[in-house]
Amino acid sequence: MIFTNKHLTAADFEPAVRRYLLDNGLHAMDVRAALCDMDGTLYNSMPRHARAWHEMMLTQGIDAPIERFFAYEGRTGADTINILMKEHKGITLSPEQCAELYKIKSANFRHFQETEGIDVMDGAPQLIAWLMKHGVVPVLVTGSGQGSLLDRLEHDYPGAFPADRRITARDVTRGKPDPQPYLKALGLAGVSRSQALVLENAPLGVRSGHAAGIFTIAVNTGPIPLDELDGAGADVTFTSMPQCRDAIAALFEAMHSTTV
Ligand code: CA
Repeated sequence: MIFTNKHLTAADFEPAVRRYLLDNGLHAMDVRAALCDMDGTLYNSMPRHARAWHEMMLTQGIDAPIERFFAYEGRTGADTINILMKEHKGITLSPEQCAELYKIKSANFRHFQETEGIDVMDGAPQLIAWLMKHGVVPVLVTGSGQGSLLDRLEHDYPGAFPADRRITARDVTRGKPDPQPYLKALGLAGVSRSQALVLENAPLGVRSGHAAGIFTIAVNTGPIPLDELDGAGADVTFTSMPQCRDAIAALFEAMHSTTV
């Protein structure tokens, strides 16, 4: 369901929670863990990532539109590289070759980060703080292996995402939209799917969370149409991170009071 109102109550969310429970054969939710995407969710980093990808692919003679990289958001680096390689050159690169190209992309991103900065997503620190205050343990679930941003997490989100509560590209054999990253995060948090929620900004990430059977919150923070997030399987779609932050207490109220 897409929510565009500024002021939302538990009653607004009850139908979405009820539908999630029925679709998944569950009776009730008891959320203990928040499985959070990083790029485009915790950080407003997607515009820089897209440019870093674009410039790296140019070194390979591939001039892919910037928007393509927003659409690929959430995939592992190797996935993104090979989709474009296959499309433009009819070849698939080895993991080693992908790693070399991903290094160039990472260096581009680091350069942008150093020269232009990367902003924390407006509203996200307060949202994460609210969750922690209410006994919900955050877990990072990112397709990124971008060390420069991972290193900043402790500074921007103190205590939220320690090194042992992160699922990154290194921990999975299949990236988003496969459910594996979120299933692994459930294991890491030691909770079942009815005890977790997913926080995502991109269709592929939403698909991953939904496929894992976890209540998935989509927050639109970029150029992606709301319909695409909803269509990817989001249980709740917000128009912005501040809207999500302001509505989180009402959503939790609905999650705690709704049973089927
Ligand atoms: Ca993302």
